Amino acid sequence: MQALVTTDVRTMELRDVALPGEPGEGQVLLEVEAAGICGSDYGLYLGKHPLSNFPMIQGHEFCGTVKALGPGSSGRIAVGERVAVEPLLGCGKCQPCRFGRYNCCVELKLIGVHTPGGFQEAVLVDERLLHPTGDLPADIAAFAEPMTIALQAVKRGGVSKGEKIYVIGAGPIGLAILLASRWLGADVAISDLVSHRLDKARRIGATLALDAKGDAAAALSEWTDGEGPSVVIDATGVPSVILSAVDMVAAGGRIVTVGISTADVPLPLATLIRKELTIYASRNSVRMFGEAIEAVRRFRAEVAEIITHRIRLSNVQPTIELALGRPDIVEKAIVIFDRVEAHRRRRR
Ligand SMILES: [Zn+2]
Ligand SMILES: [Zn+2]
Repeated sequence: MQALVTTDVRTMELRDVALPGEPGEGQVLLEVEAAGICGSDYGLYLGKHPLSNFPMIQGHEFCGTVKALGPGSSGRIAVGERVAVEPLLGCGKCQPCRFGRYNCCVELKLIGVHTPGGFQEAVLVDERLLHPTGDLPADIAAFAEPMTIALQAVKRGGVSKGEKIYVIGAGPIGLAILLASRWLGADVAISDLVSHRLDKARRIGATLALDAKGDAAAALSEWTDGEGPSVVIDATGVPSVILSAVDMVAAGGRIVTVGISTADVPLPLATLIRKELTIYASRNSVRMFGEAIEAVRRFRAEVAEIITHRIRLSNVQPTIELALGRPDIVEKAIVIFDRVEAHRRRRR
């Protein structure tokens, strides 16, 4: 079978490798059908991610068909079923794991980062990490993982029906947060520097799509009768942007940080206290796959708009290079495996 191996900084090789063996106890053999390329995959590929560790097989946003079940299978999943993969491997022993918050396990490992991921034709995965996606097409099912990240963020922030919330950044995660907010019945303003992304945000249901170069604060103030949005979710990780959220959010409001940065953010304590703000960090997701699959099912058309590139495994490297140079062109790129393409052609 083919596997795309990241062998060094900015170097990927398509290799012929042996098929994984028979699934062991509690495992399944999965034939990968679609795998999304995430922003963190760019960092891993560039060697800038702390977990870049070559050689590696990337890809943590994927779905596939169950080909074989290992001994002792629970019967929850059948051979031939399409499933999305939850890529988190908690240790099960540390305090957050014991409290059910395996997303922040102190020894958390991720499929596609610590262990070989979805940029290959088949992989062995623990059955407990699989979530049936029913009749969803493979590219939409592969978007379940980014949707879990978005659901985690909006739920951390307590987003609820009728609230006016502001999302900063309209990349794939920002747009998924827009959809997750709509899923919970909230009204969304979103901003970005790239105008294409703002057009897309409007098409998939943003009430306000604001050019980040303009006066977003004034527009938000007008939209909320001077009170400010009750929740601001940052999907950029840019310190100055997070600081602006402190100014823009309503008194008594919540800020959720999803975007990652290694920089420090100097928070103005006086404003935090005057407004009695709550800041939530949001990492990965916990038990969100079932709901994420329902959300991508409802917003199938919108998710299809976010996916700008459907590519082959051999085209991952050029597509990442394109995305790095032209973030205005590549929103979400998803690898569709040849087998799936061939099947689609046969059905036509
Ligand atoms: Zn990701
Ligand atoms: Zn743990």
